[in-house]
Amino acid sequence: MKKFTSLEVLDRAITKCDRCPRLVHWREEVAATKRKSYQDQKYWGRPVPGFGVAEPRILIVGLAPGAHGANRTGRIFTGDSSGDWLYRSLHRNGLAKIPTSRSRDDGQELIDTRITCAVHCVPPENKPTVAERDNCSEWLTSEFELAYPSLRAVVALGAFGWDAVIRTLKKHFEVDQKAPKFSHGAEFEWKDEVGKSRLLVGSYHPSQQNTFTGKLTEAMLDRVFARASRFAA
Ligand code: SF4
Repeated sequence: MKKFTSLEVLDRAITKCDRCPRLVHWREEVAATKRKSYQDQKYWGRPVPGFGVAEPRILIVGLAPGAHGANRTGRIFTGDSSGDWLYRSLHRNGLAKIPTSRSRDDGQELIDTRITCAVHCVPPENKPTVAERDNCSEWLTSEFELAYPSLRAVVALGAFGWDAVIRTLKKHFEVDQKAPKFSHGAEFEWKDEVGKSRLLVGSYHPSQQNTFTGKLTEAMLDRVFARASRFAA
């Protein structure tokens, strides 16, 4: 696996990836077709890299870019309802400079935090195949390797992100403890090779499916980030 010197270098490499033919086709088709309300905008239409500080204490792992959110704006969780929920909660917890995330040049800055996703290209119906997931896991492993020295807490948004993190830890970071299944508020604490504790916390994904139905409330999301933030302090 190729080694990268920094998260910034990794991010640049991710934006050029074309390993999954189906997703390359889909991200470009969505970018060309566009949603009616965004017809006057130029869509990003490429893999969306992570966003945040160079040495994160908290890493947030989602599923994949939103078709008309991150695949349009080029910044993860930016420009759609999921992002609105996420950044508002991060701001309330002192982890984001402003409560909104609308575009790559909106002045948003994360504090001690980085956001990424298990699959960097928008998949049809939000469902990557196993082969696509495995292709993209190399990027997640590199991201973990680069973030690991400063990392204290990981927040997985949804079962897909949770499973991707557990798989990465077990395969590449010699974590052999049994991890619980994903649920909202689930926790998995492990010790690294020098005995330092790290924590993974699960949260329902702030997708419209969960937020519109009340399955995930703002208070529930806030509690997850408060927990991760306290652990990482
Ligand atoms: S999903 Fe990941 S591995 Fe596949 S093309 Fe996009 S960035 Fe590359």
